[in-house]
Amino acid sequence: MNTDQSLFERAVNVIPGGVNSPVRAFNSVGGTPLYVKSGRGATLRGVDDRELLDFCCSWGAMILGHAHDEVAEAIREQTALGTSFGINTEKEVLFAERLCALVPFMEQVRLVNSGTEAVMTAIRIARGVTGRRRILKFDGCYHGHSDSVLVSAGSGLLTGGNLSSRGVPRHVASDTFVAGYNNVSELSEIVHEKGHEIAAIIVEPVVGNMGLVMPAPGYLEKLRHFADCCGALLIFDEVISGFRFGFSAYASIAGVKPDLITLGKIIGGGLPLAAVGGRSVFMSDLAPGGSIYQAGTLSGNPLAVSAGLKVLEVLERDNPYPLMAESGDVLCDVINSSAKAKKANLRCAQYRGVFTLFCSNEPVRNLSDVRQCDTTAYAELFHRMLDQGYYLPPSQFESAFISAAHTPDEVRKFARAVVDAI
Ligand SMILES: *Cc1c(COP(=O)(O)O)cnc(C)c1O
Repeated sequence: MNTDQSLFERAVNVIPGGVNSPVRAFNSVGGTPLYVKSGRGATLRGVDDRELLDFCCSWGAMILGHAHDEVAEAIREQTALGTSFGINTEKEVLFAERLCALVPFMEQVRLVNSGTEAVMTAIRIARGVTGRRRILKFDGCYHGHSDSVLVSAGSGLLTGGNLSSRGVPRHVASDTFVAGYNNVSELSEIVHEKGHEIAAIIVEPVVGNMGLVMPAPGYLEKLRHFADCCGALLIFDEVISGFRFGFSAYASIAGVKPDLITLGKIIGGGLPLAAVGGRSVFMSDLAPGGSIYQAGTLSGNPLAVSAGLKVLEVLERDNPYPLMAESGDVLCDVINSSAKAKKANLRCAQYRGVFTLFCSNEPVRNLSDVRQCDTTAYAELFHRMLDQGYYLPPSQFESAFISAAHTPDEVRKFARAVVDAI
């Protein structure tokens, strides 16, 4: 029988750790990871036929919900016409035009297959155009799994970070400075001492990858300012935040202009697609026009692009953003007012349709605050919700997502279930 347990037992024999991406293994919440048979709208169906309301939504990618009719049809149509040629298609031109029209500071864009690749390319462009080696990132921001960004805060600010993975060369990590998120004095110190060596300052303008953490007022403007002071490129990694909070990048909402921006997740409509774009003075240095090399067999393939085009079309036509935001507001109010009344160790951080249930009494502004959270309590909450048919991200350090397919009623019921669990 295909139960979660039996599938996972088979998986560990042939897939490292049994999973194709680590957080799926439930290591931080315990228990047997989930196997999904299908999904429709906001609902997942497990291999045991149990239905779950999904607040993970493929880490935010499925903003319209699972198996959306129009997206599925677009994928079907393209499948019949061929899925990849390694030759140009009209659709990739349409898609690039669309992205450049929707993201005001994006003058040119290159399509790739994953957020990791988009970030890797953005960093290479920054190094190429500045002729500098080092980058500055922020502790707790995730930028995919390429060497330069698998680095966390070390003992000294100015000595480069600690390796977050074996196999990353020490010298690569030592080229990455790591400052605390929302911490202007560390940012300022690094830029003053080492600014002339920094090719890029890279940041998640809204952090989704340590749980949801918002930039403090004026923080993104400071990043722009410091990047200008030292001549580094400012990269906004919007693989999560792009098209999540409104029909553009978060940079448009914040009114801060990065030099380069990465997009992923939502723009691929559930297929592998991501993008790196920005000012054409920088983007045009990419091969074949320029001498910064980047390429991809499946890059901009018409299958992924068809899904992406359809998602953008539906988002524009239906504008689900106000409803997702309203559901998020209600959820957060219900949970936080009850947690406060009961003096519970729980705080819902929320912005529009994204939230994190932090098991903490304190506001969470950076990674050290997240580290204060009670991860055992989160694991318990996760499993209580799972038992009641709600799938949350299986880690305290992740964001949960409300899709356009979640009804306000479903979200309210979930909020009440959390309140009951407090
Ligand atoms: C998910 C994510 C990535 C990595 O994207 P993949 O497609 O998983 O490689 C990079 N940056 C941010 C901000 C992300 O959320």
